[in-house]
Amino acid sequence: MLKDPVCGKRMNRSKAHITIEHEGVVYYLCCPRCQSEFERSPEAYAQPEVGEKVKKGKRRAQS
Ligand SMILES: [Zn+2]
Repeated sequence: MLKDPVCGKRMNRSKAHITIEHEGVVYYLCCPRCQSEFERSPEAYAQPEVGEKVKKGKRRAQS
C-alpha cells in the first residue's frame, strides 16, 4: 500500500489519481486537490519514506 503524503490516505497503486516525482522520489496523490496541494509546496509534504525511490540508471548495490 502507498500513502498519499498530503492527506495520509493509503491506497493501491492503481487507485492513485496521479504520481509526482520530487527530488528522486515518486509520490502518489489520491485526488486533484492533493495534487495541487503537493505542487504548491512539495517541500512541506515530501516524505521519502511514503514515496517510492526512482531507480535511475544501474547504481550497484553493495554486495
Ligand atoms: Zn490525498
